[in-house]
Amino acid sequence: MQEFSRREFLRRAFFAACGAAFLPLFGPGAAEAARLGEEDTGGPYVYKRFFGFSEYVKRPATERIVIHHTEIADMELGGTAALIHEMHKQNGWAGIGYHYFIRPDGMIEQGRQPPMVGAHAWQNNQDTVGVCVAGNFDRDRPTREQMDAVKELTAWLCRRYGLDPGKRGVIVGHRDLNEDTTCPGKYLYPKLPELRAYCEEHI
Ligand SMILES: [Zn+2]
Repeated sequence: MQEFSRREFLRRAFFAACGAAFLPLFGPGAAEAARLGEEDTGGPYVYKRFFGFSEYVKRPATERIVIHHTEIADMELGGTAALIHEMHKQNGWAGIGYHYFIRPDGMIEQGRQPPMVGAHAWQNNQDTVGVCVAGNFDRDRPTREQMDAVKELTAWLCRRYGLDPGKRGVIVGHRDLNEDTTCPGKYLYPKLPELRAYCEEHI
């Protein structure tokens, strides 16, 4: 009995050690994070936000990146991901619909958790990542810092999801998908070819 206990103890100690050794590789979320490139340090700094969402639905595929603006010129109302999160909750959505948010100073914030289905382009959320640049670009121009950030972020997203930025329809503006919007605005939309070219060079 004592021998069995000792053997059992050793067996358990062995598996506990194995478990500890493999935990970083197979622990909950770790494999997923590795697959999605969450720990990829080759990308821009993203300020990780942990907003509460009323539901989490995993996105089945990632084939396209959609560029948006907030359409809000007043930064007191729409200059941060937190403000947009509150606004989108009031729309009855699970929380902020965009996966990434770029402030006027170029800071990139995480909005919705990157592996989740977003709420940013009607009937086009199942295979897209939503990137929103703060501002109303039908009225104003994006800042240089915002352009630098959206280029760096989008190039990184192409790398981590294995997307070809030169392929038609991979990097699009919201208005390419939904006819009832001018998003991302008349001053940002014409910059998409420049964005695609940057991504092709930096993928
Ligand atoms: Zn939009």
